[in-house]
Amino acid sequence: MKNSELKVYNSLTRTKEVFKPITEGYVGMYVCGPTVYNDVHLGNCRTFVSFDLIYRYLLHKGYKIRYVRNITDVGHLLDDGEDRISKGARLEQLEPMEVVQKYTNGFHKMMEIFNTKKPSIEPRATAHIIEQIDMVKQILDNGYAYIENGSVYFDTLKFAKEKKVYGKLSGRIIEDLISESRDNLKNQSEKRHPSDFAIWMKASDDHIMKWPSPWSIGFPGWHLECSAMSTKYLGKTFDIHGGGNDLKFPHHENEIAQNVGSCDCQPCNYWLHTNMLLMNGKKMSKSDGNTISPPELFSGNSPHVSKGFSPMAVKFFMLQSHYNSTMDLTNEALLAAEKGYKRLMEASKTLSNLESNGKGNTLDEEFTSLMQQAYGDMDDDFNTPKALSRIFEICTKVNSLKEGHISLDELSPEKLAEVKVFFREFIEDIFGLLDESTSGDNSEIMSGLMDLIIELRGNARTNKDWTSSDLIRDKLAELEIQLKDGKDGTNWSLK
Ligand code: AMP
Ligand code: ZN
Repeated sequence: MKNSELKVYNSLTRTKEVFKPITEGYVGMYVCGPTVYNDVHLGNCRTFVSFDLIYRYLLHKGYKIRYVRNITDVGHLLDDGEDRISKGARLEQLEPMEVVQKYTNGFHKMMEIFNTKKPSIEPRATAHIIEQIDMVKQILDNGYAYIENGSVYFDTLKFAKEKKVYGKLSGRIIEDLISESRDNLKNQSEKRHPSDFAIWMKASDDHIMKWPSPWSIGFPGWHLECSAMSTKYLGKTFDIHGGGNDLKFPHHENEIAQNVGSCDCQPCNYWLHTNMLLMNGKKMSKSDGNTISPPELFSGNSPHVSKGFSPMAVKFFMLQSHYNSTMDLTNEALLAAEKGYKRLMEASKTLSNLESNGKGNTLDEEFTSLMQQAYGDMDDDFNTPKALSRIFEICTKVNSLKEGHISLDELSPEKLAEVKVFFREFIEDIFGLLDESTSGDNSEIMSGLMDLIIELRGNARTNKDWTSSDLIRDKLAELEIQLKDGKDGTNWSLK
């Protein structure tokens, strides 16, 4: 059942292609990670949950995967030329690396809440300056970059003329790019052509994050980090490169230029792009207030929702759209997703309690066909909404079996066992959905345990056993549990 052929939509060729890894049985996958200068928003989460699904499905198909997802902590500039991390540091009066750590921790916590798997490697751009400088040297040696006042620029015009690949991914024509170039406006005059982009930038005296290089004390351009780190960990050409489709230009287009410009090879065989999250039909955007953060969505503390929605209901909502389609977040859609998630989890419980001694004929065949179709949907470019519709057809039949509308004699024990495995594989392994009804029980246990710990710490304090009371507080802090001593006793909260 698992051996049908996987097809993926390749954004570079704009066609669905049979997926053939470079080395049979192994997959190298690189996904552009977050720029860690503020809290991750729900659109970012959609992209990372989508690539988690892709990772999980490839694992399910038996591939050994090296999944690299970077942390951007330098070089991603705002339109006015300020580095996003430096700006965060200035506004929050923190060290740049404190900003990076703070929002990396927040990102990890959110990825855990959505029950995503950790990547195999999570490299940071600032830890790979040497590799980036080496790549700039190679591009210079090959004649596709030039030095101007200590900065190094990629020569898009020369590259486009000689290699004929610039603009292929994003569908842009070099002449149209003249007014669109996005990096550091201050240095536009140094470029030979407006669509040229910086691969190394000379830093001004007040710039905080800078490193020595053969050209100047400066910092790498944003696009360069992904080219350098994907090459280092996955090789010059690997299997899958992913990111949100807003990264196609300039980020991914320029990555291709850098890889081809340095080693004359394409970075990957398949480009996969997720589509954008909308809210009430419009792009989610902070500037016009059309935004909701994951904590607001979970707590219901937002004018955009009538109540809070649990992380798994939100994740289920994401799975109901294909990763390559836009997804519109509305209160109604979330209410429907919450119902769908509960219905799925209840049917899964009902199924696990079913037993059968039947012979099985037509029902066995129907189940076989639905299960095969669900795997076929996943093999068809990870089509989760279609797979879910097959799974819900099975849920309806499972409920009918429970209520006696269909006799259990219709189902053989072997097929029932297969359907149970199928549910576990889809819910736990592929979709990564957790059963929140059981984590509710855990919260009662948690609350009881915390009462006990607070009592033990109170006793230690009464006995002036400061070593024990401090140990308890510090160990809880490591688990991100904060104790607050007040007039009415001690309370706890998750940090
Ligand atoms: P950033 O931190 O801005 O570099 O973005 C991290 C990832 O989130 C990138 O792959 C973006 O393409 C993706 N992303 C940003 N906004 C959205 C959105 N509204 N919907 C889906 N993905 C998004
Ligand atoms: Zn990237």
